[in-house]
Amino acid sequence: MALLQDQTSLLSLPIEQLPGEGYRRRQLAGWLYEKGARQWDEMTDLPRALRSEWAERFRISEFADVAPYPSQDGSVKYLYTLLDGQKTEAVYMPYLNRKTICISSMVGCPAGCTFCATGRMGFGRNLTTAEILDQILFAAHHQGHAPREIRNVVLMGMGEPLLNVENVFAAIERMLHPQGLAMSPRRITLSTVGIPRGIYKLAESGLGVRLALSLHAPDDETRQQIIPTAHRYRIAEIMDAVRHYYAQTGRRVTLEYTLLRGVNDHDWQARALAGLFKGLSVHMNLIPWNPWEGAPHQGTPKAQILKFAATLEQQGIPTSVRWSRGRDVGAACGQLALKQPA
Ligand code: SF4
Repeated sequence: MALLQDQTSLLSLPIEQLPGEGYRRRQLAGWLYEKGARQWDEMTDLPRALRSEWAERFRISEFADVAPYPSQDGSVKYLYTLLDGQKTEAVYMPYLNRKTICISSMVGCPAGCTFCATGRMGFGRNLTTAEILDQILFAAHHQGHAPREIRNVVLMGMGEPLLNVENVFAAIERMLHPQGLAMSPRRITLSTVGIPRGIYKLAESGLGVRLALSLHAPDDETRQQIIPTAHRYRIAEIMDAVRHYYAQTGRRVTLEYTLLRGVNDHDWQARALAGLFKGLSVHMNLIPWNPWEGAPHQGTPKAQILKFAATLEQQGIPTSVRWSRGRDVGAACGQLALKQPA
């Protein structure tokens, strides 16, 4: 039997390039993306000889090991060990009738946001298309669901998806493909810290997914303090790209804003934020900051969070506060750092 690393990854192949022809290829796609098979033995309607031949050449799984960490609130953090020994994470959230998974696009992240445990780790490498997809397939299988029962995907885990455009877009194509995960583009959200050229590419890609923008400050000075790589792109450039995205797709843009005490939670910043997004269809998610060991920040007190939200609302920006899930197992926003919970 060939080593897993030497085999071709089935999930890396576009559906039209899976092995087999016509009917056989459709059967294989069905086993992978509809039934969620993770072993060749499960594919009982494929001839045994064909299964053995394919099992020599192709691999189904991208992980050497997976450790699930269930949170008290029902979400589960998955710590995936990849075939080269690197690690990444996803978080499964079983909201009522809305099974959602937050997946990663990288090992670590190069953006280095000061409030984010992943940023503190630095950059490992980009995930492959197959590694991005298999986070969904494994979690569905582990939860006892067919893959298509997971109806919402957010690319908001480790990494900046718009700095791994080729692999991320190919993975999204497989999520949308009728013989793939057959998802609606409205149920896939790509979250970016604000990479203008990536936002233009997403607008032109025709994928039609939702865009979430994590600006985290309405002014360049504050933004550069908390997102070290932000000096490369000014807010005005990012806003041009976002307006272009909106003009091309007509999709409402989600805004993600992590509130840090005394840094980006002042009233004037709420008013400035509202000014930036005037005339655009947006929805603001305020994220109370989730603490992690050694972090250089404090969370904004609840009263100020509610005041910040009220100011945005008064200025015409629909706003929700996203009290995070999975805090107890380090699965909440900004906490992903490959740590095993105590
Ligand atoms: S908040 Fe997002 S972009 Fe910033 S370091 Fe963390 S994972 Fe990267």
